[in-house]
Amino acid sequence: MIYRFTCIICPLGCSIEVEMEGGKIKEIRGHTCPRGEEWVLEELRAPKRIVMTVLPVENSYLPVVSVKTSQPVPREKIPALMRYLSNIKLRAPITMGQVVAEFEGIEIVATRNA
Ligand code: SF4
Repeated sequence: MIYRFTCIICPLGCSIEVEMEGGKIKEIRGHTCPRGEEWVLEELRAPKRIVMTVLPVENSYLPVVSVKTSQPVPREKIPALMRYLSNIKLRAPITMGQVVAEFEGIEIVATRNA
């Protein structure tokens, strides 16, 4: 079986194919550098993503403020993280880079002032 990925590590976006046989990796092709191979191995074993969203903010000229996780989050934890974030309402003033919440040790950081 062949699995196809688009590498998200740099803007080149190489198309990477992973050929599996009997549950084991037979060949990885299409990556232009070693970082692509490392990334695709992590995608197969334990995919992670930086999560970006907006949270409502009171007492501000903006109705919402953009936030992101300070580190990549295991993909299976993202639904629980989003449920947690859906209950949060921030209050201005908020400074870009400020930790506004924490979920299971993962910091949620504001990406702009409000
Ligand atoms: S394989 Fe290397 S060059 Fe290609 S997109 Fe990934 S990081 Fe960039």
